[in-house]
Amino acid sequence: MIVVEGISKAYNGKKVVDEVSFEVKKGETLVLLGTSGSGKTTLLKMLNRLIQPTEGKIRIDGEDITANRAETLRLKIGYVIQNIGLFPHYTIARNIATVPELLKWDRDSVDDRIDFLLKLMGLPEEMGSRYPAELSGGQKQRVGLARALAADPPIVLLDEPFGALDPITRRQIQTEFKELETLLDKTMVLVTHDVFEAIELGDRICLMHDGKIQQIGTPTELIFEPANDFVWNYFKSQRFQLEMKVLTLRELLPEIEPFD
Ligand code: ADP
Repeated sequence: MIVVEGISKAYNGKKVVDEVSFEVKKGETLVLLGTSGSGKTTLLKMLNRLIQPTEGKIRIDGEDITANRAETLRLKIGYVIQNIGLFPHYTIARNIATVPELLKWDRDSVDDRIDFLLKLMGLPEEMGSRYPAELSGGQKQRVGLARALAADPPIVLLDEPFGALDPITRRQIQTEFKELETLLDKTMVLVTHDVFEAIELGDRICLMHDGKIQQIGTPTELIFEPANDFVWNYFKSQRFQLEMKVLTLRELLPEIEPFD
């Protein structure tokens, strides 16, 4: 569904994303993992055409999006960022409705969609008439996700979507998100620096460093078959917990709830 071919981005002659290639299959969640400054956000923004690559191509369903400048293309991609950026003077319902309204959906369809998404995110219906300032961090994050899903985009890009939350709310929303992943069957690319989040939510992980891919593969492959010393060392300090987590989630007891 998404094919990235030799994409680079340079600032002042320095490549912050350096000849990166990968594919994301339909329905798959690919996690871009790496320390701060490794180029994850720049890469995600190129997928969303917020930034033009210096070289390389990105194809979505065969179409070269680096060549296509139509704004409507971006509206087909849901985008969630850490500090959400809900419009403060709009109600929650109107915030969620932004993209369907831009796409000129009729009023009934927009209203039905708002009701559906509030329910899906576990938010009470009356919250639609409230304003962002009246919501908790976790509730705002859920609204941000609802807004990204509003026009039912086939692709959802998420940049540290749980980063601003306290650890307990973060954990809760990650668990909910995992259920949603299965339910929605979207193609997703999620940026995080949290290895546990990557292992739990990613079908595959793309580990980045200095703008380059160090390894791309399933969580099991990265943890048990590291491609090089960098990958080995990246997971080193938490290796035992990570091995247990991978085994619990994916190998040993996949049919029961994982423990923490
Ligand atoms: P990550 O998301 O992995 O933390 P980023 O993609 O945000 O990394 O940044 C990668 C590198 O690119 C960093 O060194 C950052 O300073 C640099 N960078 C990002 N945006 C710009 C910009 N607009 N101008 C110059 N350098 C930038």
